[in-house]
Amino acid sequence: MPAFYDTHAHLDYPDFAQDLPQVIERAQAAGIAKIISIGTDLDSSRRAIELSERFPCVFAVVGWHPTHVLEAPEDLPPALRELARHPKVVAIGETGFDYHRAHRGGLPVDRGARAVGRGGVAELIVGRHDDARLGAAADDERYQRKQAQIFEQQLEVAAESGLNCVVHQRDALEDTIALMEKFAGRASGVFHCFANDAAAIQRIVAMGSLVSFTGIATFKNGQNVRDTLAATPLDKLMLETDCPFLAPLPYRGKRCEPAYVKEISQLAAQVKGCSLEELSHATCATAQRFFPKLS
Ligand SMILES: [Zn+2]
Repeated sequence: MPAFYDTHAHLDYPDFAQDLPQVIERAQAAGIAKIISIGTDLDSSRRAIELSERFPCVFAVVGWHPTHVLEAPEDLPPALRELARHPKVVAIGETGFDYHRAHRGGLPVDRGARAVGRGGVAELIVGRHDDARLGAAADDERYQRKQAQIFEQQLEVAAESGLNCVVHQRDALEDTIALMEKFAGRASGVFHCFANDAAAIQRIVAMGSLVSFTGIATFKNGQNVRDTLAATPLDKLMLETDCPFLAPLPYRGKRCEPAYVKEISQLAAQVKGCSLEELSHATCATAQRFFPKLS
């Protein structure tokens, strides 16, 4: 059975609190040999590390998610540097820019990914702005400035630590590329849950970065993402679930879990016109290169 990795999972979320050992077992049985659990703030990053110590196939990424930056410390690097030294921490993130701000009781929606899960692929691809611009301009400016500050601090820690970044980017491609270009040759990124077009892929690849694809590629209305996947060089992409969000068909709407990389890989092989073995070989080799401590 060809092996695949889930390069972006949130195993520390409460969604998995009841049955994580079974979730991991199902992933292994489906051929998902390694799972990377992504931190969204310092506590979540510490939990990801704990999981990596508990399960040999789990690795951790430590960082601070852009939709949570208002709760982030002014100076994130000292704590992050410390966590990044752990032997199973394979990258910094997730970090980036999320300009798709929606308010719930005056606060940004909990996690960009959660908003994506709720709004579905149409919202993600088209970028619906109607509920996203309710915030006062000054608030938005402060929010975006803090995102830039926290993103740059994480790129700096990545560069110092010899690691790369897991990048969350929503409605903010230009600013993301501009900031990352400052770190060219020092740290690169994987643009996770990729849903931009093929032209964006060329720019991302040109600066030494990569993309990864989720279950959105399997959705009936995910043709844009399939077109982008078709245009992505085979050695510049990885697969991920972003679980517990974005379960692929035929599980759409249910809790997602790492085992479902299998369904994503089947679709991806079809779109790329290659065998599962070729896809396995290419995506695992790319992940090994990108996450130097993944072994
Ligand atoms: Zn995520």
